[in-house]
Amino acid sequence: MLHRTAVTALLLGLLLGGTTSAQAAKWQVCLHDAVGLNAPARASFDREFSLLLAPRDMRFAWSSCRAGGEAIHLAVRFDAPQPYSNVLGLAYKQSGAISPRVEIFLDPMLDLMKDTQCWTVIGRALARVAAHEITHFTEQRDAHDAQGLMKAGFSSAELSSDDSQLFCWRRRAD
Ligand SMILES: [Zn+2]
Repeated sequence: MLHRTAVTALLLGLLLGGTTSAQAAKWQVCLHDAVGLNAPARASFDREFSLLLAPRDMRFAWSSCRAGGEAIHLAVRFDAPQPYSNVLGLAYKQSGAISPRVEIFLDPMLDLMKDTQCWTVIGRALARVAAHEITHFTEQRDAHDAQGLMKAGFSSAELSSDDSQLFCWRRRAD
């Protein structure tokens, strides 16, 4: 009986391994931390970002992009460049197209979330803004929605909510 269990587990492992290698992610998101996020903020960012990216063909790492696949460069910086001093994140446009370079900003986030003492909440909020900015690029859209991930702005209550549903990737009618 034990022997049979072991064989089943091995076969399952092989099957899962085959599935993973056959599904190379289309997009890799390469994160650059220019602010030195602490461990709780980083861990919380990773957890939320994984959750929000799960329905998409993407993977991410805090490192340079590996060769192959298409890369989105996401940087965490202290402040936005002028004249965007109060934004939480930016996506950039070049020659009419939104480029695969997005930035999110820690200091405006800390100002907005001044009522929280909790780095895990800050990390999670940064991941939510990152998912928003990346969506500008992946969907090549300037426009914002009235609701959901692509709202033009978020309140501190929304960004610190335990519920991630507001920020999830929407199911489409088509
Ligand atoms: Zn936006």
